[in-house]
Amino acid sequence: MKNPIESFRDHFNDVVEEVQRFAVFVRAIEFQQQSVAKLETLLDECTKAKEKAIAEQSEDAANAYLSFEFMAKALIEEFRFYLALKADNPDSAWDHLVNAESSSAAAMKSHAVASHLDGYIHRLHAMERLLFPQPVFFSAGFIVRESECSICGAEYGECSHVKGRPYMGKLCARIVKKADLQEVSVVSDPADKHCRALHYTDDGVTKNVFTQRAIKDQDAEQSPPAYPGGRTDAPSGSAEA
Ligand SMILES: [Zn+2]
Repeated sequence: MKNPIESFRDHFNDVVEEVQRFAVFVRAIEFQQQSVAKLETLLDECTKAKEKAIAEQSEDAANAYLSFEFMAKALIEEFRFYLALKADNPDSAWDHLVNAESSSAAAMKSHAVASHLDGYIHRLHAMERLLFPQPVFFSAGFIVRESECSICGAEYGECSHVKGRPYMGKLCARIVKKADLQEVSVVSDPADKHCRALHYTDDGVTKNVFTQRAIKDQDAEQSPPAYPGGRTDAPSGSAEA
């Protein structure tokens, strides 16, 4: 008899199998939009299962469903990446691709049901390298004065929770409350790939770094909107539950 996580994983994999053939750039827009809708329903099911596991104080199950949530989010972001590219919006496509990468990494941190995502993440990185010019990334150096544990609210470091580890359906994060900015530097391997140069100036004309289209100066002062954050190597649940 299968345990509830295994049964859920089978259902999860069925949905992923159904949509993964559309997770290829050239597939029709309407199929990719339908795939997003199916995955949003699946994401909802992951969240409900996680909430039930939390109510039952079943930590392993809660973390497994958290991992399924991140896998569903990664696939939704991948489809939105294709749709944004087709809509001639590479800034938004970049954000969706980076979100897909970080959701996949979060899935792997959350539970062993996502221990097989290395190949999938590798594929996302390959698309990043092939489809975009190498961005100029920024990284801010801070001295943290006050920070909080996202799990229990204690001063970070004073409790037993460790950032990046799962606790009862949540990944622990260090929430910085007060910090002094030391420097902003240009880096090639940033902690946050959303933090990049968006425009450059050429002969007095401000242009978008991806499209090279001239943009109005007032638009250059604003960032593009940030978006919140398959195939055989798609993030389906692994055999290990
Ligand atoms: Zn804590």
